[in-house]
Amino acid sequence: MSKVIVSSLYDSDVFRMACRQFDKAADAINLPESIRDRTKYPRRTFAVALPIRRDDGSITVFEGYRVQHNLTTGPAKGGIRFHQHVTLGEVAALAMWMSWKTSLVGLPYGGAKGGVIVDPNQLSLGELERLSRRYMQELIPFIGPHVDVPAPDVGTNEKVMAWMMDTYSNHVGHIVPGIVTGKPISIGGSQGRREATGAGIAYLITKYLADLKIPVRKATVAIQGFGNVGSEAAVALDHYGLKIIAISDHTAAFYNPKGINIKKALAFVRSQRVLKDFDGGEEITNAELLELKCTVLAPCALERVITPENAPKLKCRIIAEGANGPTTFQADRIIEEREDIELIPDVLCNSGGVIVSYFEWCQNLQNFYWTREEVLTKLFAILDRAKDSVEFQKRKFKFSRRLAALTLGIQRVADAKIARGLFP
Ligand code: GLU
Repeated sequence: MSKVIVSSLYDSDVFRMACRQFDKAADAINLPESIRDRTKYPRRTFAVALPIRRDDGSITVFEGYRVQHNLTTGPAKGGIRFHQHVTLGEVAALAMWMSWKTSLVGLPYGGAKGGVIVDPNQLSLGELERLSRRYMQELIPFIGPHVDVPAPDVGTNEKVMAWMMDTYSNHVGHIVPGIVTGKPISIGGSQGRREATGAGIAYLITKYLADLKIPVRKATVAIQGFGNVGSEAAVALDHYGLKIIAISDHTAAFYNPKGINIKKALAFVRSQRVLKDFDGGEEITNAELLELKCTVLAPCALERVITPENAPKLKCRIIAEGANGPTTFQADRIIEEREDIELIPDVLCNSGGVIVSYFEWCQNLQNFYWTREEVLTKLFAILDRAKDSVEFQKRKFKFSRRLAALTLGIQRVADAKIARGLFP
């Protein structure tokens, strides 16, 4: 019998949700008790204080984290989030999901996540650069291209990755592009990485529509979140011929039954940073967007937006989880019982991002670069394989699609731990 003393370190709604998902999956596959806690809890966690000189000369100390959940199946991998509501528990939950995601799609990685408690929109460009560099500086002893490879997440982008790569490279004295992924192409970023998460989501949506025999031209989509993931998903879905009838960000939501002009929305956000005051549709609330009648609902923002309150009221045929953890554990059960909604779980649905991060890392380690076509062809091949394995697992054990995906991911991590044994 394994016994752990679990402190309150990670305690939060979102960490409890990730743990409940794990427990359910572990029960479903009869994971031996002796391996459970080792597989479930984060391996190690770093908390750092980040003093930053502000433009007005004052100093603010921000708090940052990096949680390395699993290093058994390869270097830890996962994004860095800059958001004012980041908590250690959230970062730990996101790290856990990265472990299952990389395992599910067969990448030679573990799982990690980082976060800094900051609203990046409140920082000047200079302050953002100093914070990004300082965070990387503090992390240097704990990460490396063969230890832990960060990437963008909510609130961070290519620019932030470039500063982080530069900080690390200056420290070691030569360029180390493989220290982070999601970089600009000019310094070792991969073709297709920027749009990878959205492109993967859109690709999977078309595959599930085909399974349901719904023509893409008849499908309507509501997208919650218009950051990198939501906007790139919109572009790709628009390209496939689906009609995007609603979009939103944290400032506003818009509905247009004739279809939102995505190019116009992108141009608007490029100039205004947010969707507020966009005139391409009727303004609605974010809550209304989630309950719109549509073929596909794609939550592409933060965790826990589909709740027991709105789950019974959803009027979509497919939920495509572009965000990590958008559906609470209780809402999941309601959706399962309804039987009229196909849910593409986060660990499958948004895996395109980390898959192309993997390609970027491979290209960096080999100094051999691929075309966009090569990247996308390889991405879609991995997504097809992962989807097939999830559908097979779902049918074989009569699991929900989420349970099928989680059990596959968790089993692989546990198998690796058993194979490697316990050191010393
Ligand atoms: N932050 C993204 C995710 O949640 C990408 C991670 C990565 O590319 O390492 O999957």
